[in-house]
Amino acid sequence: MSLLSVEEARERILFHLRPITTETLPLVESANRVLAQDIAAANDLPLFDNSSMDGFAVRAADVVNAAAASPRSLRVVADIPAGSYPTVSVAPGEAARIMTGAQLPEGADAVVPVEDTNFDRRDAGTPAPNEVQIFKPAQPGNNTRPRGMDIRAGEVVLRTGRALKPQDLGLLAMLGIASVTVYQKPRIALFSSGDELLEVDVPLESGKIRDSNSYMLAALIEDAGADLIRLGVAKDSHESVKALLEKAVDFGADLILSSAGVSVGAFDFVKEVIESNGKIEFWRVNMRPGKPLAFGNYKNIPFIGLPGNPVSAFIGFEVFARAAIRRLGGMETTFRQTVRVRCEEQIDSDGRESYLRAGVREEKGVLVARLTGHQGSGNLHSLVQANALLIIPAGVKCVPAGKEVNAWLL
Ligand code: AMP
Ligand code: MG
Repeated sequence: MSLLSVEEARERILFHLRPITTETLPLVESANRVLAQDIAAANDLPLFDNSSMDGFAVRAADVVNAAAASPRSLRVVADIPAGSYPTVSVAPGEAARIMTGAQLPEGADAVVPVEDTNFDRRDAGTPAPNEVQIFKPAQPGNNTRPRGMDIRAGEVVLRTGRALKPQDLGLLAMLGIASVTVYQKPRIALFSSGDELLEVDVPLESGKIRDSNSYMLAALIEDAGADLIRLGVAKDSHESVKALLEKAVDFGADLILSSAGVSVGAFDFVKEVIESNGKIEFWRVNMRPGKPLAFGNYKNIPFIGLPGNPVSAFIGFEVFARAAIRRLGGMETTFRQTVRVRCEEQIDSDGRESYLRAGVREEKGVLVARLTGHQGSGNLHSLVQANALLIIPAGVKCVPAGKEVNAWLL
């Protein structure tokens, strides 16, 4: 069996996956959901020319020479609180009292803030004066927000694939969009496998260990924006694996994810069960940790078999399963941003694409990395202590101290 590159393995998986169905949700339920439509503005924003200050709407030409020592006196012809519609226009020598956000009246082209007038009061109850003294000059446009300055009608403001952020919801509401079409959350069926595995809360038995992967992977699945179907632990038997796979089918899973038993020969019964109703391939990926990987489908549900060692399972998730879940959920498949970090010590590698646990800190504007603890694929503690994965490219056997490599911040 030849080695697949990480890239090729990921491409082979993604090739088989398409975004699942969509649903339409009210705005209040759509935070973090992934848009399945482009959103174009139906109207300009702001909707109308309006004031950005409490003050007086004026004709700038009227107040070019205004100064504290020689104020310009204007007749106040209207009072325009927020939410009202100005019915009067402002003629030369006139002004209108206006509140922040209120629509600018015809004729006016600038707003003089109350503090630059002799009527420095904002309390809503106070009636507008008949006359106001302006202490400062204004240029056309001062303290106004013209219609359409932010968004023009027809402009596409959010695109398919965008996970909706809180500020996006605010913008959608501004645009009067009360519901959006989003991708359904993919449903991921998860199981662990192995006769050695015990639940977290039962007494230990000699030779057994606890199933830790399912807790870690469950959280990763939810973090990736999917819904979890927790299937538990499969024994190393045909019947047990078959029962769990059938459960995944019954629950309508969009993807089945398992950990362990993917090294050559170890998973024969899984191979047998899956091949009775689907397809499975066992790959050796040119990566460390996490060389063995299985991919296929059971009754047309895609299946990814991650390695059993906890760190390998974590990295296999980040490198393959997260991209798969994002594809199913309509998102771009890349997730983690790559940053450059400087290695504090020499790092030896074996030529596989290596994902190494490291602590990254900033020193004088440079990100500096040092490996954490034991790098064996069973040593979860070193992953807990890490805040980054250094990515040593395939073919590289030694990174000298002081050299920079790519990293994912966790
Ligand atoms: P396997 O691929 O089945 O040979 O498993 C590789 C290693 O991962 C073994 O040491 C297993 O005991 C360990 N392992 C498998 N599944 C889990 C799990 N769910 N939680 C913790 N360790 C596991
Ligand atoms: Mg096993």
